[in-house]
Amino acid sequence: MSDMPTRFDTLAVHGGEPRPAAGGSVVFPIYQGTVFESGDDGDDVPYIRLGTNPTQRHLHHRLAVLEGAEAAVATASGMAAIATALHSVLGSGDHLIAAGSFYGGTHQLLAEHAERLGWTFDLVDPDDEETWRRALRPGTKAFLTETITNPLIRVGDLAGMARFAREHGLTSIVDNTLATPVVFRPHTVGFDLVCHSATKALNGHSDIAAGVVTGSGERIEQVASVLRAHGSSLDPHAAFLLARGLKTLALRVQRQNANAMAVAEYLAGHERIAQVRYPGLRTHPDHERASALFDGYGSGSPSSRSAGPRQRTPSSARCGCRTRRRASAGWNRS
Ligand SMILES: *Cc1c(COP(=O)(O)O)cnc(C)c1O
Repeated sequence: MSDMPTRFDTLAVHGGEPRPAAGGSVVFPIYQGTVFESGDDGDDVPYIRLGTNPTQRHLHHRLAVLEGAEAAVATASGMAAIATALHSVLGSGDHLIAAGSFYGGTHQLLAEHAERLGWTFDLVDPDDEETWRRALRPGTKAFLTETITNPLIRVGDLAGMARFAREHGLTSIVDNTLATPVVFRPHTVGFDLVCHSATKALNGHSDIAAGVVTGSGERIEQVASVLRAHGSSLDPHAAFLLARGLKTLALRVQRQNANAMAVAEYLAGHERIAQVRYPGLRTHPDHERASALFDGYGSGSPSSRSAGPRQRTPSSARCGCRTRRRASAGWNRS
């Protein structure tokens, strides 16, 4: 890697690209092969399940640069990223502090599978340190949260949670899917592991399932070790598509932020809407925190509540709700 561009928009296009380019190709090629004669670094023969095929490795460099991390791995889905990150720190008998309302899949992982894995967890308030403190136990190993909670669109005390985790020797893990690194880079406030569903904004074209975990070289080696054992790394063709999607990440998310803000302002001014939740609005309880930490307020559509249970929802609000549901399946529509 040569001169590293510094502006985020430029990083998204070129960050982590090898120089000189592989075989002179300006676009990193798809190595579809599963196995190789020999590796670049001695004995280590690249193999697809290990995530060490050259296209997979290229993507890992790109992702690490975008989150400002030492290392990254790509996974077969966002849930694979979150589950693998948790598996890399939690063993049987360990306890997790989980702050937020959580994406449905994450909630299901904890509610339906934690017990069988021997994990226990407490759900706490991402805004109330006292609840974190009360949840601490001798076996607590990790602290999990989301940068922007879904569906209530809250922004918790992110810097406080990372500090709390560090003070108590816990690994802090954050799901940064809704913010994306365009809006917030959680390693800058001290989070240890950052997870994404790349199925959403990072890829941005609704044509692959993928996930990401970033962190220090040491922590990512632990994550990769679980990934190798579980066999859930991302295949090279999807890795190529994700690396391509990243090139337009900044432009897409900036536009989505602007669109989400416009929808939020429109709904906030609508007589039949009782409440709009979007951190870009001054009326949002976390507006100041989001303004201090974020570049923009997130690409998720605002969530809203109509005034009066029996009133017909105005078409604009119906549109807002529909956009919101689609947003969780394909962000290019939001
Ligand atoms: C979609 C999503 C996930 C899960 O990602 P998949 O790629 O569908 O497995 C996790 N967290 C958040 C916040 C999401 O929106």
